[in-house]
Amino acid sequence: MQSAFSSEERAAADAVINFDAAEITCPACGTSFATGPSECPDCGLFLGN
Ligand SMILES: [Zn+2]
Repeated sequence: MQSAFSSEERAAADAVINFDAAEITCPACGTSFATGPSECPDCGLFLGN
């Protein structure tokens, strides 16, 4: 999965999950994934939606 986020933007995404973004970063494990699933595909953290 390609990511358009810079490291700084990824850090910001860790602090505030933006469900309008095309891709979100799990605050627990840092995995980036496309919005759609309400759980992190890597660690299973439930992100709600
Ligand atoms: Zn995760």
